[in-house]
Amino acid sequence: MGTDKKYIIDTSAILSGKINISQPDYIYADSVIEEIKTGSLEKILDSANIDIRNPDRKYVNMASEAAMKTGDYSVLSKTDIDVLALGIEYNGIIITDDYAIQNVAMYCGVEYAGSGIDPIKKNIVWKYRCSGCHRIYDKYMEICPICGHTVKRYSRK
Ligand SMILES: [Zn+2]
Repeated sequence: MGTDKKYIIDTSAILSGKINISQPDYIYADSVIEEIKTGSLEKILDSANIDIRNPDRKYVNMASEAAMKTGDYSVLSKTDIDVLALGIEYNGIIITDDYAIQNVAMYCGVEYAGSGIDPIKKNIVWKYRCSGCHRIYDKYMEICPICGHTVKRYSRK
């Protein structure tokens, strides 16, 4: 993804496991991160240095109005609206597998792509690194057998 555009990543794209969540040009709505944290997937965010932002109210209103016009508003959550608002605010590209979000994005003239066609995924090689002794493992394990600290996933290109 060699542009200067920001990519706004929605919950479905994170959950797809197909994107490298710590890409520097990816940004996340605060509410998306809260949604992930209340689920069981908090640990996938643990090791990532990610850019979390709250959309400006003005853009939240724009996204809401657009969703009402397309008829998608009733199926969109507050989080979905935040993702759309960030897409408008940063003139970014929304990464989502949610068709309702894609539909509203299109209406707003915001670019979007599904996580499944994210070209980044081809380059990801997941490795696992101990948070204590920093040993690297090819396979996931919860606890480092050497030092007993937790092992976290990271990507090496
Ligand atoms: Zn260790």
